[in-house]
Amino acid sequence: MNDLEKWIGIATTIAREVAREEGTEADRNATWVVRTMAALKESKLTGLMVPAAYGGLGGGLFALVRISEELGKAYSSAGLCFGMHCVGTAVIAAKATGWQAAQYLEPIAQGSHITTLALSEPGTGAHFYFPQTILLPRSADDFVVNGAKTFVTNGGHADSYVVSTIGASEDAGPDQFSCVVIDAQAPGIRWGEPWNGLGMRGNSSRSVELRDIQVGARHILGEKGDQLWYVFNVVAPYFLMAMAGTYLGIAEAALQEARETLARRTYAHNGTQLAQVSLLQHRLGGLWANVERTRQLIYHAARLGDSGSADALTAILAAKAEVAHCAVDVANEAMTLAGGIGYREHGRLGQLLRDARAAHVMAPTTDLLYTWLGRALLDQPILSD
Ligand SMILES: Cc1cc2nc3c(=O)[nH]c(=O)nc-3n(C[C@H](O)[C@H](O)[C@H](O)COP(=O)(O)OP(=O)(O)OC[C@H]3O[C@@H](n4cnc5c(N)ncnc54)[C@H](O)[C@@H]3O)c2cc1C
Repeated sequence: MNDLEKWIGIATTIAREVAREEGTEADRNATWVVRTMAALKESKLTGLMVPAAYGGLGGGLFALVRISEELGKAYSSAGLCFGMHCVGTAVIAAKATGWQAAQYLEPIAQGSHITTLALSEPGTGAHFYFPQTILLPRSADDFVVNGAKTFVTNGGHADSYVVSTIGASEDAGPDQFSCVVIDAQAPGIRWGEPWNGLGMRGNSSRSVELRDIQVGARHILGEKGDQLWYVFNVVAPYFLMAMAGTYLGIAEAALQEARETLARRTYAHNGTQLAQVSLLQHRLGGLWANVERTRQLIYHAARLGDSGSADALTAILAAKAEVAHCAVDVANEAMTLAGGIGYREHGRLGQLLRDARAAHVMAPTTDLLYTWLGRALLDQPILSD
């Protein structure tokens, strides 16, 4: 068994034994997936994106997809929370200094630290690469952060937050952002209301105000001028692949529900099993094909990304746009196949459909992804609005 198979095996066990059960409660009460994240920390899978040099697993995009997929299949928010931790880790790891590695990456590898990504803001919404949160220098070594973030997954539960800010000077342009790591206990962090979404209810994706937060220069990631490099080389691939895996898991779970329902249901008046009805067989076949072609695109995109291929970006953009349609369509159609029984309150398919629906509105949103894809194919500037 190679390392990847071993990690997937561990993720599958945690997904089945912890996340699946916790998901029912988290969906009902909108509580963060505390037991699942504890199990992932205990297993050291939370060190997936930490380079081996710092004691981590040194995994790539394909591993991220597969683990997010297994978690997402059991409970969508488990995939999302794990994914956002991994993206935050990848952003820290991309150009980590020795201090950042010791402070963040090593504890993450040891299973004692959760991080997450706080990019979205109330003012700029889906255009997360135009933050308005300000990072101002007080001296060469001291900076102060002021602003607001929305939808911070793992909000209030992570040990650190990777926050995007506009550049470290007063005359910096709106696209001149830096990322800075803020510790959870930093004075000046004020959390908004608990997360209470339509779906994806176990994420704790909360709003937060950042008021006069003091950070040292060592908390700033990368160098001036690295901004677009971070967006396209780290945030986009890791975020899009983590989300693609999670939403693929949702689509697979919905397909499985449809299969089980058709196999289970037999009519009293004539003994017909729904599994014997040609139209339903045909529709189930269509759902399987949808899931399978989307899976192949996602796996292909992740492998291209891991190999450093120049074609990776377009495939990665397409993968998250396509999986959003796949997850919503398959969950929606599975509910039709499951009849009125599938439509009941607190049912599994209802939860999967609500969770799947978040895929279209999570930035980069589906519409923006297709637009970026078109721009990439036409050699146009991708972030032109
Ligand atoms: C469950 C969940 C978890 C999240 N977790 C995180 C997280 O951990 N970290 C984080 O930083 N963010 C997170 N987000 C935020 C997310 O990534 C988006 O930023 C957010 O959902 C955008 O919402 P909005 O209401 O501001 O959208 P708006 O920006 O108001 O957009 C509304 C609609 O307009 C469309 N639109 C806007 N501009 C254009 C354009 N130029 N062309 C075409 N269409 C356009 C958008 O695609 C969208 O459909 C999360 C969101 C959700 C729902």
